[in-house]
Amino acid sequence: MVYDVVIIGGGPAGLTAGIYAKRAMLDAVLLEGKGVGGQIIVTDLVENFPGFLEISGAELAAKFEEHAQKFGLEFRNMVDVTAIDDKGDTKLVKTTEGDIETKAVIIASGTTPRKLGVKGELEFTGRGVSYCATCDGFFFRDKVAVVVGGGDSAITEAIFLTKMVKKVYVIHRRDELRAEKINQEKAFANPKIKFVCDSVVEEIAGSNVVEKVILRKVSTDEISELKTDGVFIYVGLDPNTGFTDVEKDDWGFIIASQRMETSAGGIFAAGDCRNTPLRQIATAVGDGAIAAVSAGKYIEELTK
Ligand code: NAP
Repeated sequence: MVYDVVIIGGGPAGLTAGIYAKRAMLDAVLLEGKGVGGQIIVTDLVENFPGFLEISGAELAAKFEEHAQKFGLEFRNMVDVTAIDDKGDTKLVKTTEGDIETKAVIIASGTTPRKLGVKGELEFTGRGVSYCATCDGFFFRDKVAVVVGGGDSAITEAIFLTKMVKKVYVIHRRDELRAEKINQEKAFANPKIKFVCDSVVEEIAGSNVVEKVILRKVSTDEISELKTDGVFIYVGLDPNTGFTDVEKDDWGFIIASQRMETSAGGIFAAGDCRNTPLRQIATAVGDGAIAAVSAGKYIEELTK
């Protein structure tokens, strides 16, 4: 069978594309490598998605999924896309579970947390090094944690960690944070959070589990040690776009038009994997809706 649309990725962008595609009566299937929900699954609290004053990421993801199911979207989980073979009027989406033929593709494959790339990071992953405070914060009850990064992820997760840990040190390489001002103010007002700015982590060390980080002051090169039980790394996101050769920027984010069209006809991009000025649930949802409508128009043109 040839689908109308294959949607790659089950985060807010992909699920919204699915809702809009089904409402346009398109034959659509959504492929997801892990579980539906994407990055928001590991977000403790969402308070900037209109209509929901406060909701957990997991709860919001479940609502998106339920909504897409209501319109009959087909889901295939545990499917990793390895390549897209562009045959012109149809595309062959190559996956770990076989090939799927389709008229259009919407890439909404999101991002993966970036590694810090320092000594000890790999060795202590799961033994004190984590990329998910929501998943692992509980293990650090009444202990000391370090959060690396100065963006919204680092700051919101540092605030989340204060619910359980004794103290959180936020290590940031500059003197100024990148996070939204409202998040910064909440963190500055939290007595459990201490900022260590102008500093980078040089090494994560310990015996069996993490015991300390070695820090370097950027402006002076001065080296110091900080005792900690956990290191939570939030230094940005890498796009999950290795399987496609559509045009990308220097960091691998897909370049797409206002209509979410990529450099390849019939292949659209939506959400965090796209070169976009803002990566939020609200913007991913908008991208997903536009991508599905554009895919519908593209298919209409094909059959004219
Ligand atoms: P981000 O905004 O790219 O921030 C990454 C942070 O890590 C920056 O502060 C950066 O420092 C630092 N960094 C990068 N490489 C580093 C290195 N090698 N060593 C030390 N520090 C390093 O990434 P993010 O925080 O994951 O956020 C991603 C997107 O999701 C953003 O658009 C963000 O607004 C959004 N988001 C929003 C919310 C919300 O509540 N509104 C929550 C989470 C995420 P510099 O500042 O010096 O570059």
